[in-house]
Amino acid sequence: MKFLSNAHTHTPWCDGRTPILDMLQKARDLGFVSLGFSGHAGQGFDPLYSMLDGRQERYKAELKALQKQMANTAGSPRIWIGLELDSMADEAWRRDAYENFDYVIGSTHYLNRDYHGDCVSVDGDPILLEQYIADELDGDGLMVVQQYYDIHVDALLRDRPAIIGHFDLVRKYSDSLHLFDVNGMAYRKIALDALERAYGCGGVLEINTGCIARKSSHRPYPSKELLGAWYDMGGEITITSDCHDAAFLDCWFEEAVKLARSIGFKHVLRLGTADELWETVRL
Ligand SMILES: [Zn+2]
Ligand SMILES: [Zn+2]
Repeated sequence: MKFLSNAHTHTPWCDGRTPILDMLQKARDLGFVSLGFSGHAGQGFDPLYSMLDGRQERYKAELKALQKQMANTAGSPRIWIGLELDSMADEAWRRDAYENFDYVIGSTHYLNRDYHGDCVSVDGDPILLEQYIADELDGDGLMVVQQYYDIHVDALLRDRPAIIGHFDLVRKYSDSLHLFDVNGMAYRKIALDALERAYGCGGVLEINTGCIARKSSHRPYPSKELLGAWYDMGGEITITSDCHDAAFLDCWFEEAVKLARSIGFKHVLRLGTADELWETVRL
């Protein structure tokens, strides 16, 4: 079984490296049935990872034209126009995302929007993150974990996005910065409690393989233990590559299918080929 879709795709309108038409060509080459774009939405504080100054409008306009054109082109994947929206985004950006796009991926990258003029993220500058933890959180890595999951789950329950983005991104620097032990009970309990709470948002949990393409991890987000807990809760999953480079559009998808099967999942969801956002694929 091949998954043949991806709902988490970046473009040069934010930090993606592959032009939209080249990404589409790659999707066609792979035989994808659908392709969802999910640029980093404006949030109001970090210009590096958002589409500001009218770029979000132009991103949408370019994709709308492509969506229309592809709807009339045989053998082309169905195009969906989404956004990856950060939990800390300003109200106006959140409204634009939820009202004017096909779907939203709800992700948490930031812990603090204005820390001495910088924004602190769990997946950005590790030196800044380390400094923030030392200054603001008594150097306690588990406090970062708790803060991250509180921000993430509160936003998921508030906004109810279609997709829950890279759920346990907070473990990106856990080893390299010696922040906490991902295998320890203390961390696992916080993460499992957060996932249980997140279930109430009704979103689809992504198995995000982007970190494998970018070589920051050998395993996708979230961990196998969290996926197992999600399965026990009856949650839905999809597979995404958080793609910034067309060469990795389906990176680790076959392994992700096997992983889902090994946990017990009988199906996954992928973006639909007609009007419905999701379709079910049997594993
Ligand atoms: Zn992200
Ligand atoms: Zn992303």
